[in-house]
Amino acid sequence: MMNKILIIEDEEAIAELEKDYLEISDFEVTIENDGEKGLKTALSEEFDLIILDLMLPGIDGYEICKQIRNQKNIPIIMVSAKKDDIDKIRGLGLGADDYMTKPFNILEVKARIKTILRRASQPVAAEKKKIIRVRDLEVNIVNRSVTLGGKEVRLTAKEFDLLQLFINNRGKVFSREAMLETVWKYDYMGDARTVDVHIRRLREKIERNTSQPEFIFTKWGVGYYFTDKD
Ligand code: CA
Repeated sequence: MMNKILIIEDEEAIAELEKDYLEISDFEVTIENDGEKGLKTALSEEFDLIILDLMLPGIDGYEICKQIRNQKNIPIIMVSAKKDDIDKIRGLGLGADDYMTKPFNILEVKARIKTILRRASQPVAAEKKKIIRVRDLEVNIVNRSVTLGGKEVRLTAKEFDLLQLFINNRGKVFSREAMLETVWKYDYMGDARTVDVHIRRLREKIERNTSQPEFIFTKWGVGYYFTDKD
């Protein structure tokens, strides 16, 4: 997928030079030459990264950076012709991802863009790991939400703990005692029937047909197990 970059820069020659170079490096580039249009475009369209000049007619880069940060989590490289200004804004902690002094080496710009985009894509990859999918059952282990066929399934805390135990140990048969120990720990003087009740409720929520389970199976005389096999 082509990365989209917005350049907010009033020096048209510099903007065009960046654009040409980034386009041959397979980026899709949009240029805005003043602060107001730049901010409007940044907020209304989707970009993967913004190269933002500090000194701009209209709204300056400092204000633009603040306003973008209030609304969007998009990487920003701030540029300025004055090194002092860069040092100053860096000190203000505006939340830009990188800072560069003009004139810059276009190769360096590209290298920095790539580094930032790689970094920016990592939380997304981590986010994906937080969601466990088994066919159309999705379990988000961070916010503890569950969907089946795209529809939200509301589980109690214990039901979720049970499901998580199962899904992390697919194919493993858990005895009722093992589940009591793991999920209820020692703060509950439960008996085996407690487990059965919770399993029954969990099945009623995630199985489309409780007499023909797709996820949670019974191992007669032993306990229960979860399987992702069809
Ligand atoms: Ca400028």
